[in-house]
Amino acid sequence: MGIKTKQYGSLIIISGTTCAGKGTIINKLLENNDEMTLSISYTSRPMRKGEKNGVDYYFVTREEFERKIQNGDFLEYAKVRYGEYFGTPKAEVEEILQTGKDVLLEIDVQGAEQIKKMFPETILIFIMAPSMEEVKRRIKARGLETNEQIIDRFKTAYNEINEVSKYNYIVVNDEVNKAVEKVKAILLSEKCRVDRIEEIAVENQEEIIHEFLMDKEFDNEIKTISERMEQ
Ligand code: 5GP
Repeated sequence: MGIKTKQYGSLIIISGTTCAGKGTIINKLLENNDEMTLSISYTSRPMRKGEKNGVDYYFVTREEFERKIQNGDFLEYAKVRYGEYFGTPKAEVEEILQTGKDVLLEIDVQGAEQIKKMFPETILIFIMAPSMEEVKRRIKARGLETNEQIIDRFKTAYNEINEVSKYNYIVVNDEVNKAVEKVKAILLSEKCRVDRIEEIAVENQEEIIHEFLMDKEFDNEIKTISERMEQ
C-alpha cells in the first residue's frame, strides 16, 4: 500500500548578478542528479578561451541565430550583452520535460520574463553576490574583459537587481555550499506543492478497508479502549 504521486518536470530558471557564482551553484546542483538537465543555450557571441561548443553554448553566427528566430526555434531569446543574442532551444527543452525531468535554464532577466509569461508555474531563482564590492573584486580577479566591458557588466548587474521582484526566490551566495543547500531546499519544497502533483492515488484501497473490517484483534482493542474510557 502507498500513496502514489505523479509529477511532471519543472522549468527552473536561475539568473543572477554578474559574478554571483551561478555557474558553480548549477554545477553542484547537477552533480549526481539524474532528475535535472541543464538546457544549453544558443548564442551569437564569440567563444571565449576555455569554452566548448555544445557544452557552454551552441555558438552560431548572428545570421544563423536570426534564421533560427524566423524558424521559431527558440522558447525565448534576448539581446543580452554588447547586442549579442542568447536563446533557449524550444525542441530540446520540450523533449526533456516530456521525460518528467526538470530543466534548468541559466538565462537573464529578459528571458526569465518571457518564460514566466508562457509557463507561469516556472520556478524563478535569483542568485546575488553578497555585495557590489565583492562583485567588483570577482570581476577584476577574472581579468577576462576590457574596462569598457567591465563597466557594462556592472551596469547590467545594477539594472538586474531592480528586477528581482519578478523572481520567486533570492539566494545570496556568500558561501557557496550554503547557497547550494538553499537552492536544493527551494526545489525540494516546490516538489511537495499540491498544485505540482498530477495524480494522488491510494493503492489497494478496497482491499485495505476490507482487511480493516475483518480485523478481529483491532475490534477487540477498540472495545477494550472504549470500555476503559467508560469506567
Ligand atoms: P556570459 O556567458 O557572456 O558570461 O553571460 C551570458 C548572459 O546571458 C548571462 O546573464 C546569462 O544568464 C544570459 N544567458 C545565457 N543563455 C541565455 C539564454 O538562452 N537566454 C537569455 N535570455 N539569456 C541567456
